[in-house]
Amino acid sequence: MSFRASILTLYPEMFPGPLGVSLAGRALERGDFALETVQIRDFGVGRHRMVDDTPSGGGAGMVMRSDVVAAALDHAAPEADTRPRILMSPRGRPLTQERVRELAAGEGAVIVCGRFEGVDERVIAGRGLEEISIGDYILSGGEVGALVLLDAVVRLLPGVMGNAVSGDAESFEGGLLEHPHYTRPAEWEGRTIPPVLTSGDHGAVARWRHDEAERLTRERRPDLLPGKSR
Ligand code: SAH
Repeated sequence: MSFRASILTLYPEMFPGPLGVSLAGRALERGDFALETVQIRDFGVGRHRMVDDTPSGGGAGMVMRSDVVAAALDHAAPEADTRPRILMSPRGRPLTQERVRELAAGEGAVIVCGRFEGVDERVIAGRGLEEISIGDYILSGGEVGALVLLDAVVRLLPGVMGNAVSGDAESFEGGLLEHPHYTRPAEWEGRTIPPVLTSGDHGAVARWRHDEAERLTRERRPDLLPGKSR
């Protein structure tokens, strides 16, 4: 069975959004993956379908109710559903290409998009939600984070990228940033292409690319090099 994403959100109109165009869009049309949205408000409380309330202990903003989020989750993914249950959260484990690869190898994901100040802690514990962050900054909601995560996953699914090889050499896949790219014209605004790339010597090209990848990683992201901890 192919990858199935269920997204719990107050703004289902944000999906498929960017996942509806280009390679992802065509893959979605072909059914290489499926994307379903669940409107959390449908599980809201009372005549006004309330989904949030004031924070216990006081303070600004609103908190999404655990009973409402749990009802939406239990509808989207009953207990027998073994897909990972994810909460987009700035407090989560930072998303890595490794986790993206694991998710792409699985059956899908159920993703809760927070809004307001976040969600009641008890539903995170009670439904075993895996908190994932897309970086050290605050978004206004989890939707853009979910789109980032799914974009990264979907391009790894079988059949999605035309040229499967181009997935391998990319930044992070080998633990290094990717080497620079060039294409025609041979000269542009006085800048030329490194001669080794047009030499026809495949061994020399491979060595140059590896050396450049190492140089860039050392300069920009020494934390990625072996022996360096984050
Ligand atoms: N008060 C919270 C921020 C809430 S932002 C705090 O200070 O930690 C509202 C929602 O946006 C969050 O519940 C989460 O779902 C989403 N969000 C915000 N920043 C994010 C990030 N860096 N990664 C993933 N999701 C994020």
